[in-house]
Amino acid sequence: MPDKMVICEKCSGVIKHRDDLVTAVLIYAVVPYHERCYANDIKGAKSFILNNQPLNGFSGNLVVILSIIIAFLWLLFNDSKWFSILVLLPISYRLYSYLIYEIHTKK
Ligand SMILES: [Zn+2]
Repeated sequence: MPDKMVICEKCSGVIKHRDDLVTAVLIYAVVPYHERCYANDIKGAKSFILNNQPLNGFSGNLVVILSIIIAFLWLLFNDSKWFSILVLLPISYRLYSYLIYEIHTKK
């Protein structure tokens, strides 16, 4: 059950449904948007500091799956471990987005 309200970064309105929620990385923080508001911000001045790759939805999940595969292959064929830490970053962002915002919206 949604117990915490998710507030849109642009219009300060409540985001109730997961379908309407877009999370993205703004500089270094994960911020929630309405789908419509995200589209407006990405076209506006914020496009310089707003990552135009949403964290949630199909593309976000695809990035996570690819990251896991790359990290796994890297560990198999390479001795250096620092790269796999870099790969963990998109996975952490995705998890954060889910736990902080998506879990509080209705499916
Ligand atoms: Zn909004």
